[in-house]
Amino acid sequence: MTSHSIPYGRQNITEADIAAVTEALRSDYLTTGPRVDEFEEKFAAYIGSKYAVAVANGTAALHLCALALDVNEGTRVITTPITFAASANCVRYCGGEVWFADIDPKTLTLDINKVRELIESRPKGFFHGIVPVDFAGYPVDLESYRALADEHGLWIIEDACHAPGGWFTDSQGVQQWCGNGAYAELAIFSFHPVKHIASGEGGMITTNDEALYERLKVLRTHGITRDRGNLRYPDHGGWYMEMQQLGYNYRIPDILCALGISQLSRAEEGMQRRQEIARRYDKAFVGGAVPIAIGTMKVHGVPSSDVRHAFHLYVIEVADRRGLYDYLREHGIYAQVHYVPVHTMPYYQDIGYGEADLSKSEAYYARGLSLPMYPTLTEEEQDFVIAKVKEFVRE
Ligand SMILES: *Cc1c(COP(=O)(O)O)cnc(C)c1O
Repeated sequence: MTSHSIPYGRQNITEADIAAVTEALRSDYLTTGPRVDEFEEKFAAYIGSKYAVAVANGTAALHLCALALDVNEGTRVITTPITFAASANCVRYCGGEVWFADIDPKTLTLDINKVRELIESRPKGFFHGIVPVDFAGYPVDLESYRALADEHGLWIIEDACHAPGGWFTDSQGVQQWCGNGAYAELAIFSFHPVKHIASGEGGMITTNDEALYERLKVLRTHGITRDRGNLRYPDHGGWYMEMQQLGYNYRIPDILCALGISQLSRAEEGMQRRQEIARRYDKAFVGGAVPIAIGTMKVHGVPSSDVRHAFHLYVIEVADRRGLYDYLREHGIYAQVHYVPVHTMPYYQDIGYGEADLSKSEAYYARGLSLPMYPTLTEEEQDFVIAKVKEFVRE
């Protein structure tokens, strides 16, 4: 029926995207130019933050956040094992310690009760920050995290790579968009092709904090400032600039911002399509639990109406995950596993990750599989995926 392969996620490049990039190539700027500012302004407007800083990729965004918050050898940061390694690695880049806390098996995001237990098991001042991740697109309740962080003097970096366009409803009934800066110091996004908005490589940091915003812009380009009002030494002339701190080259080229801006203009359209696909999966897998010979299939589908799940991933859990993964591949369906828990990676095993109980993360990892989820997935392709999943679980 379907002869081509179906990946778990893929980019959607239109003629308008191609025209936007072509126009950038014909302009005066290849790297830093007007499209960087435009992308930042439009992205901030989309998710509702005051400021945005576009960077080379999501990992660079995380690294700059850690630098801007002065993470160093004495810094201890809590995150989830069920994420891409970069959420934890950014702390290590700056020499800090990563402490993992377990997930809530219902949302698959960091369990705030486990985070509280971990914080309270140590003396005051032991921990410095939390990196919650909107895993699969499920928006973390950052209002609760803010209260916990304030109680203990911690900062928050929201890793919102999976959730541009997702939101949760706070206690005032306000829809709080992921990365809008209302409850976290900083948030980050990625524009890798599997993410909602693709620019090839690319990332964004969002914040409502002006001082952090100014610092991030300087760190993005070697720690160099040309701002006449901020020079530490006397001005030598028009060419003069100062490297005032150790920064990096984490700039994003204008060419890629052209693609990002064009993609961003279709973000809501893509989000609607993801919601439809999720509802169709939900319906096909009847209410989220299919009684089957190999056990019960669990579905992480559309949640209650007080959150908008951004559905970067549509996750199911099955007892014979490896069997299903292989069976789907035999039929050209490239489902994927997100993620091998970060604390089980040899690098983190070697440095030791504390004695935390991460059994929920490990149990999820044993069963989780991400089914194809992207705006251009056709109904025919989705039906094929559904049929193959059902065929396997009923075999
Ligand atoms: C993709 C991703 C990153 C890293 O983004 P890159 O642009 O690939 O560097 C970080 N965290 C999460 C949760 C991601 O999904």
